[in-house]
Amino acid sequence: MLIALLPGDGIGPEVIAQARRVLDALDLPGLTFEEALVGGSAYKAEGHPLPAATLDLAKRADAILFGAVGDPDCDNLERHLRPEQAILGLRKELTLFANLRPATLFPELADASALRPEVASQIDMVIVRELNGDVYFGDKGMRQTADGRREGYDVMSYNEDEVRRIARVGFETAMARGKKLCSVDKANVLETSQLWRDVVIETHAEYPEVELSHMYVDNAAMQLVRNPGQFDVIVTGNLFGDILSDQASMCAGSIGMLPSASLDANQKGLYEPIHGSAPDIAGQGKANPLATILSAAMMLRYSLGQPQAADRIECAVAKALAGGARSPDLGGSMTTTQMGDAVLAQLR
Ligand code: NAD
Repeated sequence: MLIALLPGDGIGPEVIAQARRVLDALDLPGLTFEEALVGGSAYKAEGHPLPAATLDLAKRADAILFGAVGDPDCDNLERHLRPEQAILGLRKELTLFANLRPATLFPELADASALRPEVASQIDMVIVRELNGDVYFGDKGMRQTADGRREGYDVMSYNEDEVRRIARVGFETAMARGKKLCSVDKANVLETSQLWRDVVIETHAEYPEVELSHMYVDNAAMQLVRNPGQFDVIVTGNLFGDILSDQASMCAGSIGMLPSASLDANQKGLYEPIHGSAPDIAGQGKANPLATILSAAMMLRYSLGQPQAADRIECAVAKALAGGARSPDLGGSMTTTQMGDAVLAQLR
């Protein structure tokens, strides 16, 4: 099993180093690693944020563990050369259409949530976000109106096949959890959402055991902070999912805690923390590596067929937190390496 390690920029290399220590400590037979440049570091070394060799490694690998991209030095580059284009390019080139973001609150971190502890403690959900379609990939541009004013436009669309494949991921995810799926759309206003809702209802016939509900996105945003415990699995489009998953992450505590998976139709995936390259704390040993360590656990579970190893990592993280491991974002003073040490101590 080949794992592509793409540390990227800012705190990316710092958090990936800790995840690598944890994976090494598991001593799983047949696991090999190859590392490549991506993002701003790749642009500086090779003139492109996603060099051909990096894309080739990502295609050859069984799974990809990704740090983060983003470098203030690159903010004025043409858009196609900016570090963030690397992650969009990987999603598109590898057809990673399903983004899974678990949002679970470790009980020890109830105080870190933006919500009251008694509300936050109920959070245990997965948001399944479509990644390859919607308004982000539709026709877009700037034009002039007949009377000479500037107008920007971005076309929103989904075809039924795109909706069906992500709906199936939503139902499958619900089957493996609490068997409740909430589909989020804006079918009262948008035709794209009406098709979305129709196709989700058709797909439900394949999963009769799952309890399906529908919610408008504005109501979902409200319900996520009012009563997050009502959600088991949410499935939604690219734009709504982008916003709701960030909202859910802050309800669940620090951004430094949450992992994610982006999967293709064959469970090959790219695994990354949901945070960015955090240039404000890069190189200072302040980054919380737990989101990346938990991303490695997701990788073992979803792409590498090693659910027991995934459980071991998740259990070690929970024990490290219970034992008082806290980086600055969690109100403590432990360094990135000390957080890695705390997890390793619980693995052994
Ligand atoms: P960010 O997630 O990098 O940082 C937001 C805040 O959270 C910062 O204060 C940061 O210090 C803190 N933070 C983030 N991760 C942390 C961690 N592991 N431990 C402790 N604190 C942490 O978001 P941003 O500041 O909006 O963006 C910075 C750069 O990252 C930008 O260039 C952006 O485009 C990029 N970005 C990349 C990805 C990705 O690689 N998938 C995702 C989001 C943002």
